Amino acid sequence: MNCPKCSAEMGLVRYGTHKVQRCSQCQGLWFKTADLAILRKDDWMANYILDKGKAREGKKLDRAEATCPECGSAMKRESDKRQPHIFYDACPQGHGTFLDAGEFTDLVRETIWDKFKPVRS
Ligand SMILES: [Zn+2]
Ligand SMILES: [Zn+2]
Repeated sequence: MNCPKCSAEMGLVRYGTHKVQRCSQCQGLWFKTADLAILRKDDWMANYILDKGKAREGKKLDRAEATCPECGSAMKRESDKRQPHIFYDACPQGHGTFLDAGEFTDLVRETIWDKFKPVRS
């Protein structure tokens, strides 16, 4: 499988029974939809093990176009419902979600600040 953002080879990373693809170059992460829903609730360890890239590097690719590595559809840029400052790319057919390096850590580490921040319209 190749990275939807930078086209480099992705490698399988195991976390418990979950399998996540991580890009060898930009360190972005590809999650199957169901896995992301579960892993984002796993506060500390999942992001520590999976999200190895630098957020600064991930940000460079944040706005890059991406296509689903499974079906080739153009992915939709979506902002997270709970943390609207985070934008990730999701397959319109529901295959999965691509998070740039650092975004998964941000998603998991929901801070008190995020919880009380007023929602921007
Ligand atoms: Zn990549
Ligand atoms: Zn797809």
